[in-house]
Amino acid sequence: MTVELISVGTEILLGNIVNTNAAFLAEQCAGLGLSCYYQTVVGDNAERLEQTIRTALDRSDIVILSGGLGPTQDDLTKETAAKVMGRELVMDEHSKQCIQDYFTRRKIELTDNNWKQAMVPAGAIVIENHNGTAPGIIMEENGKRVILLPGPPNELVPMFKESVYPYLNDIQPGIIYSQTVKICGVGESKAETMVADLIEGQDNPTIAPYAKTGEVHLRVTARAEDEKEAKKLVKPMVKELKNRFGSYIYTTKEDVTLEQAVVDLLLANHLTVATAESCTGGLLAAKLINVPGVSEVFKTGHITYSNKAKRKFLGVKKMTLDKYGAVSEDAAREMAKGTAVVTKADVAVSVTGIAGPDGGTKEKPVGLVYIGCSVCGKVTVKEFCFQGNRSKIRESSVIAALSLMRQCILEYYSKVTFG
Ligand code: ATP
Ligand code: MG
Repeated sequence: MTVELISVGTEILLGNIVNTNAAFLAEQCAGLGLSCYYQTVVGDNAERLEQTIRTALDRSDIVILSGGLGPTQDDLTKETAAKVMGRELVMDEHSKQCIQDYFTRRKIELTDNNWKQAMVPAGAIVIENHNGTAPGIIMEENGKRVILLPGPPNELVPMFKESVYPYLNDIQPGIIYSQTVKICGVGESKAETMVADLIEGQDNPTIAPYAKTGEVHLRVTARAEDEKEAKKLVKPMVKELKNRFGSYIYTTKEDVTLEQAVVDLLLANHLTVATAESCTGGLLAAKLINVPGVSEVFKTGHITYSNKAKRKFLGVKKMTLDKYGAVSEDAAREMAKGTAVVTKADVAVSVTGIAGPDGGTKEKPVGLVYIGCSVCGKVTVKEFCFQGNRSKIRESSVIAALSLMRQCILEYYSKVTFG
């Protein structure tokens, strides 16, 4: 089956917002085994939107539109899609009640145009919106399907996962099952080389590598009669990947992030953690603190940006800074050690580097980052040379720090060695 995506909104067309909905939906549809050959962005213009929907319906089985379901005049998606499908808009009592409840809960006054969101095309499947007021809509006609989703990602993503994904899964023959093997500490090209032979001969299951900043995700997908059969196909491939990547795999669970895996490891070993950050300026601490339950393990986060702060709060020696500089193996080591001493945390992580765009030299270029990790007094320091702009370098540093923490803890406690 083919699917086509239409993102509605002049803001996207003008580049004011990044089209993350299309990226999300495309990836989800691929995971469902749907072939997506076209994606379109169209502004808030009824005529052009109508034309776009007609073209999409001509060549694709399923058309998913996002955006333009709001209560204002420029929100035209529902009206236009209903027109193309030859349907009247009728009041949906359940949506009306949901909208009423939504406003009552938030103690906001309802305006008349809010009721517009309770109008749905006759005969449509209506999907409740648990994070906003615009319901999602599915229209079916002669084997074609038009799906309307709200634009805000915090509404679209959960609505898709909860309702649209299962719907699309059900209308397809057989099922698609996939499992993601998440790897950190191995570069993207190395990881791809390590599975090149598997990808080359793949059929069912397939392996798709997704490169994320500092991580590689390998998604193993199988198509089969039922879930049991599909799992049977996926299992040996995941096992093979486990053989090849070993301890570099931090999870095979869909919803576990690297920071979650690190926090779980700290919790499992009853370890506390503290951070000392220079170029990442608190990003590492923020990433860890994103994980619910981190309060059990997280003690203190320092942002020691200046040399003075590194000396005053972490006890980094003046001589070290004078001789080797703040971006050096020695400084990273002393930062990690000092953090462990002052916070009494079991695990202490330090990050110091040159995020650019200025400040680089021939010996110490932009992107040079040292990360230190002390686990119960045993300190490891690693040097990294990251590419990209300032924010990319800072983001890469955070992921590398999480990855190093994980490796150091595993080496210390589980006697696992990393190559
Ligand atoms: P609202 O009720 O908020 O008006 P809507 O369904 O009408 O929702 P839009 O008005 O098109 O949706 O977009 C609302 C907001 O949702 C945008 O300002 C933007 O922040 C976000 N958004 C819309 N489309 C996308 C997209 N394709 N990718 C990422 N974000 C988007
Ligand atoms: Mg809108």
